[in-house]
Amino acid sequence: NLITPKYQRILLKISGESFCRDGESGISMSEVASISEQIRDVMSSGVQLAIVCGGGNILRGKQFAEVSDAIIPSTAHYMGMLATVINALALQDALESAGVATRVQSAIRMEGVAEPFIRRRCIRHLEKGRVVILAAGTGSPFVTTDTAAALRAREIDADVVLKGTKVDGVYSDDPMKNPHAIRYTEITYREVIDQNLQVMDAQAFHHCMEHKLPIVVFDYKRVGNIARVIAGEPIGTRVH
Ligand code: UDP
Repeated sequence: NLITPKYQRILLKISGESFCRDGESGISMSEVASISEQIRDVMSSGVQLAIVCGGGNILRGKQFAEVSDAIIPSTAHYMGMLATVINALALQDALESAGVATRVQSAIRMEGVAEPFIRRRCIRHLEKGRVVILAAGTGSPFVTTDTAAALRAREIDADVVLKGTKVDGVYSDDPMKNPHAIRYTEITYREVIDQNLQVMDAQAFHHCMEHKLPIVVFDYKRVGNIARVIAGEPIGTRVH
C-alpha cells in the first residue's frame, strides 16, 4: 500500500515522550520500534525525511536547572541536548533494524557516535533516501527542539514541519476540560496568534510563520498516522 506523498522533503519533530511509555520516562525500545515501523512504511514512497528528536523523556534543561542552585542553567540545557543524542542513537538502531538506512547528525560535535550537522551533507543523505536524525537540537542552550525543528526545516528547505504529539491536533480550547472544544483541521498562523493557541513553542512558531512553512500537528502514535499525514489526509491540524 504505497502512498502518494503530498510533500517531498519533510522535517518530522518527535518529542522525547515518543521514546517512552505514557507517563513514564527513559527509553522503551518497543515504543521506538513501533515508530520506526511507521517510518519504514513511508520511506518506500520516496519521500525525504529528516527527524529532530526531543529529549524530555530524559531531561529538560529548564526543569533540571530549577532543581538545584548547584547547576548552572546553561549546563542543564546542554544536558538536555545530550539527552536528545541518546534518543537519536536508539532511534537509529531501531530504524536500521527495520531496514531503513540512517545517519545521525549532531549539532554538538561527537565524532565517536554521530556526524556533525553539515547542511549540504544532510541534504545529500536525504537525496540518497537515508533518514537523517538530527540530534542535539540547535547546539545552543535556552531553546527547545521545536526551535531546532523549525530552523533545520528552513535550512534544508523542507516542505513541511510535522509535529508529532499526543493530541490529535490543535483545539479551540483544552479538550480535556471543555467538552465543546473543537479540533481545527486547517488554521492560519494569524488565527493561532489571535486565539492564543498552542502549536509549537513561540520561537519555533514565529520562524515557521515568517517563512510560510506549514506545520501539521498530529497524533503520531496512532499506527499509520505518519503515512496519512504525508499522503495529505486531513488528520490533525494543518497550520499555514
Ligand atoms: N535544548 C537546548 N537547545 C536546543 C534544543 C534543546 O538547550 O536547541 C535542551 C533544552 O534544555 C530542552 C532539552 O534540550 O529542554 C530537551 O529538548 P526538548 O525539551 O525540546 O524535548 P521534548 O520536549 O521535545 O521532548
